Amino acid sequence: MKVTIIGCSGSFPGPDSPASCYLLEADGFRLLLDFGTGALGALQRHIGLYDVDAICLTHLHADHCLDLCGYHVVRTYGPDAPYPRVPVHAPADAPRRLAAAYGMPDEPGLETAFDFTRLRPGTFGVGPFTVTAGLVNHPVEAYGFRVSHGPRSVAYSGDTGESPELVKLAEDTDLFLCEASFVDQPGLPAGLHLTGRQAAEHAAKAGAGRLVLTHLVPWNDQARILDDACRGGYGGPIDLARSGTVYDLA
Ligand SMILES: [Zn+2]
Ligand SMILES: [Zn+2]
Repeated sequence: MKVTIIGCSGSFPGPDSPASCYLLEADGFRLLLDFGTGALGALQRHIGLYDVDAICLTHLHADHCLDLCGYHVVRTYGPDAPYPRVPVHAPADAPRRLAAAYGMPDEPGLETAFDFTRLRPGTFGVGPFTVTAGLVNHPVEAYGFRVSHGPRSVAYSGDTGESPELVKLAEDTDLFLCEASFVDQPGLPAGLHLTGRQAAEHAAKAGAGRLVLTHLVPWNDQARILDDACRGGYGGPIDLARSGTVYDLA
């Protein structure tokens, strides 16, 4: 399994990265986890425009899903359109919400390009991958994912505050993409986002092999986020996510 960070900027795109989007590849199959603002552009540096085989959305905040609207144009009006519909696993109400964002009536909505399945907590197959979705701790219906292929596995937090479910999803994974939106300081709101320290604490409890701090908000000093993570009691390697970085887990 190969994991490419397409977008790792938190809440909105930054100068060097789109918002959330991760490309997972195995056996020639290409799965996107989230498709946030700006991701469609950077994605084209790594795969062809028409090469997405499936998409899983953690939640429906704009920085995690909105480039589905642009990708609807690609699949519906591209030179050889229509292209096969892409399976999209997303929280409740995604078809209506994304149709509204696009400025289209609910029917047909974006269904010409996408085949929506409502996410529920549990495990399902996507191409050669096994995906487990678990509800995490955010103000809207939001999932974290664990994605496995053979003996390799990756976890992705989506957006979450502290979450025992996230620890379960990340248990013994090779790679843990965990959000670290907040600088560690007193008085942070609960049930919204994690600090670098909390991300590392989750990684330590889960026994994850490598922690990648992501959903990095451009107004933060990222060295400080990494510093916070180094105080979380996690003994494995810790990286700050960067758009374009590839982790080959083969
Ligand atoms: Zn977000
Ligand atoms: Zn969010």
